[in-house]
Amino acid sequence: MSNPIAGRITLNLVTGIVITVVTVIAGIAWMAHRQNIQAAEGTRTMVMGGIDAMHTRVEGLANDYSWWEEAYDAYQRGDATWIDANIGTGIVDTQIADFLAVISPDGEVRYSWSTPEDAPKPEKVLSPETIARIQDLIRSAPVENNAARSSYLVTPAGAMLFGVARIAPVSKLEGVDPKSLPLLAMGFYLDKKRLGTLGKTFLINDLHLEFENGGERNEAFPTLSDVFGNPIGQLVWTPPAPGTAVLRNVLPPVGVVLVLFCGIAMLTAVRARRLALLQAQSEKQAVSAARTDSLTGLTNRFGFSEISESTTFAEACSRGEAAIVYLDVNGFKAVNDSIGHQGGDELVRRLAERLSMIMPPDANFARVGGDEFALALIGRAAPQAVAGVASAMVHALDQSFTVGGFQFQVTAAVGYAVAEGEDMTPAELLRRADLAMYQAKNSAERDAVPYHSGLETGALHKKRLGFALRTAIDEKALSVVYQPIVRASDLAVVSVEALVRWDSKEFGRVSPADFIPVAEETGFIHDIGRFVFQRACEDMANWPGLKISVNVSPAQLRDPNFANDLAAIARRNGVVPNRFKLELTEGLLVRNPTIAKRKLARLKSMGFGLSLDDFGTGFSSIGYLRQFPFDWLKIDKSFISELGTNPTANALIQSMIALGDAMDIAVVAEGIETSEQLKLLRLLQCEFVQGYHLAKPMAASEITALLTRLGEGRRMFSGPSDSGYVAERTS
Ligand code: C2E
Ligand code: MG
Ligand code: MG
Repeated sequence: MSNPIAGRITLNLVTGIVITVVTVIAGIAWMAHRQNIQAAEGTRTMVMGGIDAMHTRVEGLANDYSWWEEAYDAYQRGDATWIDANIGTGIVDTQIADFLAVISPDGEVRYSWSTPEDAPKPEKVLSPETIARIQDLIRSAPVENNAARSSYLVTPAGAMLFGVARIAPVSKLEGVDPKSLPLLAMGFYLDKKRLGTLGKTFLINDLHLEFENGGERNEAFPTLSDVFGNPIGQLVWTPPAPGTAVLRNVLPPVGVVLVLFCGIAMLTAVRARRLALLQAQSEKQAVSAARTDSLTGLTNRFGFSEISESTTFAEACSRGEAAIVYLDVNGFKAVNDSIGHQGGDELVRRLAERLSMIMPPDANFARVGGDEFALALIGRAAPQAVAGVASAMVHALDQSFTVGGFQFQVTAAVGYAVAEGEDMTPAELLRRADLAMYQAKNSAERDAVPYHSGLETGALHKKRLGFALRTAIDEKALSVVYQPIVRASDLAVVSVEALVRWDSKEFGRVSPADFIPVAEETGFIHDIGRFVFQRACEDMANWPGLKISVNVSPAQLRDPNFANDLAAIARRNGVVPNRFKLELTEGLLVRNPTIAKRKLARLKSMGFGLSLDDFGTGFSSIGYLRQFPFDWLKIDKSFISELGTNPTANALIQSMIALGDAMDIAVVAEGIETSEQLKLLRLLQCEFVQGYHLAKPMAASEITALLTRLGEGRRMFSGPSDSGYVAERTS
């Protein structure tokens, strides 16, 4: 498995090891090399010193035997015996020198001695040119004690170091021409033995003289030149190498340490590599887990959105080679409620398995919600294939499921859309498929629904409203207004009706007539109901003695906790239930009278007042009024609007009022828009009235202000009048 991090770790560690090893070895080698150089330089300096010492010695000797008045006198006398006895034999025999010659001022060898026997005689060695050169050599020296000179000569017996000095009459030197003085030259061969002894003093074993061959010269060694200045050879030796010795001693243990180090480092590298691989693997797993639904093993919502937001998909869309199918299980909540969440999960898993089996080979099939599945088809065949796949998805559920011993016949709403037209975007395709699915949900047929432009009407608007509603409370887009309800006889405000308002960012002010049905369908009505009730409780605190009507949807009443919730909210806010009138429409009563009766009885027993809203619009019959414990009935505004124009309406209203009277139920007429209507209702002895003519729904603060202005009796007008009331007074 190739992994870039693991690879980098290995590379770094190996590089580190190599650098360390090379650095250590190079460091040691460099130190050894420096040590060798220093030792070689030291040795050279010592050898040079040794050579100097030899020169000093030979010059000293030559001087000792020539700065000697008696020797000079003997020479002048030609006393060979004296010279031989006092200079020659003694020196040569005691091996102070190998070679001795007394040279006359005119360049002739007068006396000479040499050793060993077979060594060439000095007169052989000292050619006239050599003597002339030697004379030149001493000429540069002053005439005084210790003024000898030295140089080298090459003889058939080897190289020789010699010193030369003038044999001088020490006490009568004045006026003597130096050139007139005889010379004493003495020297010794630089043979193996002598050089060996010299070398040993400096701990050099092999100091020797190497004669020049082919002009090759090593600048590291001193070159010796003869009396003519011609090089005769080099003093050569093997330079000591203490560094190399140290290297030899140090390398083995250092090598062992390095090997150990490399071993440990390699082990570390291997471990680090393994860890990096493991980590990379678990990262990979985490990444795939984030895109996988743990329950079904299918792609999850996140994974699906990645697919649908990919450029591949966008391109397929614009080429018309993509399709989306949505599937939503019908009534899944009921299944969940009956067999519990575990059973629900099991059902979803089975469902996913069954659906997966009918998927085309490279379908992108995903679980995008609790009971929602989505399928993205990409490719040239997608537009043709999608209808068949969608239909197969519907029929995959034909056979029932057995979960936990129960058999379930599950149906699903399936809708799909095909990419058409060049500017088709993935978002639009998804929206269309969703809309088709939504249509399928609301259709009586079980077939999969393809998207068509006819769907772009009410259904869509409703759906969008539903989504927007979900966030409305959180975004504080909902509010409550109150519309006064007035006693017809004296126009005293006796009550207010709480009406919810929604100011949506997206849709502007939405009428409750539009969004309440949506809220009922989506279940959001429960939150709205609690919100309105809570707000009403808070606002009522400012209006003592005033009753309040709150609208209740049938859907709310179906909630088993409804009565308890209301009672709890009222208690929390310190409001007694009998200040409320709950306004209900007939729908529930007609559909499920038994349950409704029980629920209403319970609310009643808790102290809540009950009001039958929109009376006359539905199937309401006198029978209902008798069966249910209503305190109020509200004549629907559709009757009021026809009041005075339609004689039937007049008669109907009259009988409704009579009915209320007979059953001891207070009657409210709603939707009073004109003074005419008010007048007529008064004539008909309607007890309470509500409508724009008296007061429009208004904010709580406005109600407070109104009540303050009206004062004690809360009468909206001091005397009867034909003109509007609140419109004048409050605007
Ligand atoms: P509703 O309970 O019959 O409420 C009376 C409706 O008539 C209100 O409409 C009110 O503004 C309107 N109205 C009052 N006086 C006049 C008038 O003189 N002329 C006309 N044309 N209309 C008048 P709104 O506020 O639009 O509410 C509509 C319906 O929405 C309500 O009918 C009620 O059924 C429902 N609703 C309002 N608020 C809530 C609520 O908080 N919960 C529930 N469940 N339903 C609510
Ligand atoms: Mg109402
Ligand atoms: Mg009404």
